Amino acid sequence: MTAKILDGKAIAGKARQEVADQVGKLVAKGGPTPGLAAVLVGDDPASHSYVRAKRKACAQAGIDSYRCALPADATQEQVIDLVGQLNGDEKVHGILVQLPLPDHLDEETVLGSVDILKDVDGLHPINIGRLAQKGREPLFVPATPVGILELLRQSGATLEGAEVIVLGRSNIVGMPTALLLIKEDATVTVCHSRTRALDQVCRRADILIAAIGQPELVRGSWIKPGSTIIDVGINRVQDPSKERGYRLVGDVAFEEARQVASAITPVPGGVGPMTIAMLLKNTLHAASGSYA
Ligand code: NAD
Repeated sequence: MTAKILDGKAIAGKARQEVADQVGKLVAKGGPTPGLAAVLVGDDPASHSYVRAKRKACAQAGIDSYRCALPADATQEQVIDLVGQLNGDEKVHGILVQLPLPDHLDEETVLGSVDILKDVDGLHPINIGRLAQKGREPLFVPATPVGILELLRQSGATLEGAEVIVLGRSNIVGMPTALLLIKEDATVTVCHSRTRALDQVCRRADILIAAIGQPELVRGSWIKPGSTIIDVGINRVQDPSKERGYRLVGDVAFEEARQVASAITPVPGGVGPMTIAMLLKNTLHAASGSYA
């Protein structure tokens, strides 16, 4: 079997076009131009590049974006003050705090200071708490997990009753993805660095979601024939044949896995583009008042 490739770039492109169309309609009927503010603390090059990519995507969708940068030694009070100003700014409908924050800052307090109605990253403790509870709905769900769910829907995989194995339990990917899929009535197991016999657990998966940041750890022999594989990992491996000296790979050995699975996301071009598209969608919802 050779797996169907789940083309996140194409699916995300369609979603971004839909957001752009809806932004146009919102503005045409006198609504606000959606605005997204990115809070960036420090000089982490990856964080700066993610924010640049998000702002570019905003511009293409007709969403205003604001880059709100503070130096690496900014105090907790300065960061909270900045978030407070953005909470009160009516041009700003969504606020994202680019993670990770420098070590001296308390991430939970900063995320908790974002107005819940502007929490387009879905990381406010109340939104995450609601995601974890039966019968409660968060106003926003983090963009990467929603992007994963959208890819699964497009793949045609059955979620209800499916055995889903999520590799990774981080606050931004693994854990909210597991919670979201439990809401979709999947049977979810979360694995992490202390999980024993990871290969055996993976072999049970109808749907395997890898979000661990370990290049090609998941081998083809770990995969249940006919399963659906969502590879969230983005890892640089040295490659002298490339001009930049490296290439990007996922957490799953793609060529091996595609021989066994029925559907699989590539890296790059799978989950990554979906994350940005879902952030735009959340921002549109924040501006239009129809929450996710
Ligand atoms: P993280 O470092 O916060 O968490 C990694 C998780 O993986 C932890 O729970 C850890 O216990 C687990 N883990 C690590 N090594 C393991 C092992 N050998 N076996 C089993 N579990 C192991 O990382 P994160 O922020 O969740 O990101 C994970 C990966 O996803 C990274 O490669 C990151 O670059 C990528 N990512 C991609 C997107 C996207 O949009 N595509 C978004 C966020 C993160």
